[in-house]
Amino acid sequence: MDIIKKITNIVDKSSIIKGDDLKSRFYHIWKTDISLESICVVLPRNTRQVSEVMKICYENDQEVVIHGGLTNLVGATKSNNSQIVISLEKMNEIIEIDTESKTITCESGVILEDLINACREKDLLLPLNFGARGSAQIGGAVSTNAGGLRVFKYGMTRHLVLGTEAVLPDGTVISSLKKLIKDNSGYDLKQIFIGSEGTLGIVTKVVLRLYELPTSRLTALSALSSYDNVIKLLKHLEKKLAGNLSGFELLWNSTYKTMVSEKTNYNKYLPDTYKYYVFIESTGSDYESDSIKLENIISESLDKGYIEDAVIGKNDKEQTNIWGIREDVSVLADERKYDQHFDISIPTSSIGSIIDKITNQLLKNKNVKTIFPFGHVADGNIHFIIGKDSNEESITKEVNDVIYSNIESVNGSISAEHGIGIDKKEYLKNTRNKEEIELMRLIKKTIDPKNILNPGRIL
Ligand SMILES: Cc1cc2nc3c(=O)[nH]c(=O)nc-3n(C[C@H](O)[C@H](O)[C@H](O)COP(=O)(O)OP(=O)(O)OC[C@H]3O[C@@H](n4cnc5c(N)ncnc54)[C@H](O)[C@@H]3O)c2cc1C
Repeated sequence: MDIIKKITNIVDKSSIIKGDDLKSRFYHIWKTDISLESICVVLPRNTRQVSEVMKICYENDQEVVIHGGLTNLVGATKSNNSQIVISLEKMNEIIEIDTESKTITCESGVILEDLINACREKDLLLPLNFGARGSAQIGGAVSTNAGGLRVFKYGMTRHLVLGTEAVLPDGTVISSLKKLIKDNSGYDLKQIFIGSEGTLGIVTKVVLRLYELPTSRLTALSALSSYDNVIKLLKHLEKKLAGNLSGFELLWNSTYKTMVSEKTNYNKYLPDTYKYYVFIESTGSDYESDSIKLENIISESLDKGYIEDAVIGKNDKEQTNIWGIREDVSVLADERKYDQHFDISIPTSSIGSIIDKITNQLLKNKNVKTIFPFGHVADGNIHFIIGKDSNEESITKEVNDVIYSNIESVNGSISAEHGIGIDKKEYLKNTRNKEEIELMRLIKKTIDPKNILNPGRIL
């Protein structure tokens, strides 16, 4: 094919995957048994190559789909046989860790966990942290404005990005790799690429803000009987732990019960009979005194009746195991043949009642077999994994309609973290008004007039 020949002049032979070799490629880490549909996969090694490839694609009206770590949950990395995939996996260099400015500069294909570890070696913290960190790339995290377990203390990815370099659909490179926290010199152009799911540019490099690494980390798991108490506990911990509370995650009974069932390797630290389970993380500077403080706060919470039962992780291994119960969502997804994932935003005060209402409505649908709510309750973000035995479109729609209509009723959002991708496009109107969607279309049309980059995502 002509376009492949042209691309071969830019990247070396081993950086184009085509024909039968595509059988070993896939569009999602959980779908490795489905071969990728694409003209070819291009694996550029630097920004210049990304730019040159995009110039060719632009001249030839060639659609391109961007691949990061393939962990998104909204069908965003699906492609077809008339599209070219550009994967950033070979652009995985950590360029610099500046311990004084507390920044890291890297290429966009670096795996998030590698970044976290590299920062830790320099005694610095990259607070971005979520279950898929071992596969997700920083470029994917920036493009989806990923959240995770520490958002309420450190903010979303957007709050950590100081600079980006990105390639526009026509190959133009927009580079602003400044290490500045404050820069009000005109439009903040990096924001165009953060959270726009690769529809406006290919992120090739990133500068991220870092923090001093806390020297102590503690984990507690607690059991509660009412949502009122979840809120009371959150307020109590925020007051007593002040800035040290770094994680506050909630699991509903069905989710906890499944995570600690005999089918899994997770320890049942607390009986599986309570309505709610809160996972608490506190970080600080002195293990001994921080432990005593957390123990005191937990026993105070027991005395006040906020919590019914609790356990504190005694060592690193126990902490990892406890957090595994919260993070290993593949256990929940594997419960049924088909699953639907939701990541919704609701005002924190309404979460208890809305999730109960949604659950009761879904239980009436005989096609819904499992309902697993859990999430980052402190920042209003709840995930749902709904298990089914059938993938029929009408059933999917029934489930979507129940969840999204309830969210609309409390002025929530259909996507707190994962984005819209392809799967949630139809419901964008439940969460954004006509004028907002028109402005989004205008921005897309201005930057990508030929609609060749990640077409069909978001809009
Ligand atoms: C177990 C599990 C737990 C998760 N937990 C969380 C969580 O807590 N919080 C959260 O926010 N998300 C979570 N996710 C979702 C997902 O991990 C994030 O959205 C992540 O940021 C995606 O990164 P990725 O590299 O895998 O991107 P991909 O899945 O490869 O791509 C995601 C989107 O970004 C685009 N893209 C990728 N790289 C680039 C680039 N360099 N330039 C431009 N566009 C690009 C893609 O085209 C696609 O539209 C979770 C996923 C899993 C499987």
